[in-house]
Amino acid sequence: MTSIRHHISDDMLDAYRDGSVPHGFGVVIAAHLSLCDQCRARQEAQDMVGGAFLQRAEGASLRPDARERMMAALDLPQPSPPPRASGVFPAAVMRELGGRPPRWRMLGGGIRQQILSADSDGSLRLLYIPPGKAVPEHGHHGRELTLVLQGSFSDSAGSFHRGDVETANAEVDHQPLAGDGPPCICLAATDAPLRFHALVPRLLQPIFRI
Ligand SMILES: [Zn+2]
Repeated sequence: MTSIRHHISDDMLDAYRDGSVPHGFGVVIAAHLSLCDQCRARQEAQDMVGGAFLQRAEGASLRPDARERMMAALDLPQPSPPPRASGVFPAAVMRELGGRPPRWRMLGGGIRQQILSADSDGSLRLLYIPPGKAVPEHGHHGRELTLVLQGSFSDSAGSFHRGDVETANAEVDHQPLAGDGPPCICLAATDAPLRFHALVPRLLQPIFRI
């Protein structure tokens, strides 16, 4: 039983199953699934639908190579033993960290981050926000998925606690404010660079690659 209230959208979960989400989104979704019974159940239900389709396809007339291609797609290499969850970090995050604790870099105002990956497809990073502190207000060129791993934050879309995911798009300007209690640790993925309104964060953007 979990108290998670903000979940992964159907579209995003479908894209994840198809393997068509950017790397960072895939890590956020995998981490959310490991914390959220509800989304894991949705995922398993969809997998069962896929299995039923395969069974029906047994006797149906398909293109000669269709069945082979379908089976090949399912015959994925077995992953090596996955790293285990550690503290507040799910296994999917520990994999990105190489099994080690985060190496935080100070951003000012007590806010810290560690970039896990960044390229033209977007970025994935961990953020550490002390209670009562806010990330500079920013909008997005693309989409941003933010998963809370510890503590909480709130913005115009509501309040988010461990396991909750916020999905923000290009129309949303927001300024997440960390709640009281333990520092807020988030996993944030974008599929495009963020855009900041204030001049200084904009100048810092190339340095911090956020
Ligand atoms: Zn969920």
